[in-house]
Amino acid sequence: MALMKKGCKGEDVRAVQEGLTALGIDCGPIDGKFGKKTKAGVEAFQRQNALKVDGIVGPITDGALEAKLKNLYPEPKTEHYSLADINICRPALRHLWQDLPVKYYPNAQKVLERMELVREKLLRTWPYAVLQVRNGYRPEAYNKQVGGARKSRHLYGQAVDLMCKTDVIQYVPNCYQIGVLCLALFNEDGGLGLGSNTNVHMDIREKKTRWYYTYKTMKAWEKNQQY
Ligand SMILES: [Zn+2]
Repeated sequence: MALMKKGCKGEDVRAVQEGLTALGIDCGPIDGKFGKKTKAGVEAFQRQNALKVDGIVGPITDGALEAKLKNLYPEPKTEHYSLADINICRPALRHLWQDLPVKYYPNAQKVLERMELVREKLLRTWPYAVLQVRNGYRPEAYNKQVGGARKSRHLYGQAVDLMCKTDVIQYVPNCYQIGVLCLALFNEDGGLGLGSNTNVHMDIREKKTRWYYTYKTMKAWEKNQQY
């Protein structure tokens, strides 16, 4: 993991702030910005756990935080989905794998809850469809290897790439249809990556964001939407 210290910002910082807050340590607002208050919170955590007090989140402090949160955060789970749907490793990349860090469990929980909404809506039209995750969490080295974006939401357990299978010989929705359904469900916020032939990318970012994988698929998408 990369060191986190004053001046850093991002989803990894946000998860640390969320974790410290859940442990009852004041670290200011949960805003993903590592400022003075976050540093004070990290120092308080280090003091409580007899670690070197430097206000920097390195592997040792991160490991201690993981251990504490493990007792605090429930494992992500909904009626039909579980942590196993986030921890999906391609066999060929097992050497780059590590399971989702506990500090990202709240993210994964939100993702699974969104999957339930997608499933429910899917089954109304396609009762035999099985909603599956093609890509869930990606550790840093793994993300790099598969060509993921540098700040990909997959790094923080905030994203899944969805696809459909069926248990019986019956028509199942394609990526376009899953995408249309996701657009209708999540029109306030979140990220949706559309226009791939294999999956729909869905994430829980706060700012509503939509993109298409290529210009060609974007055009095809626009044409389909006029039906
Ligand atoms: Zn994705």
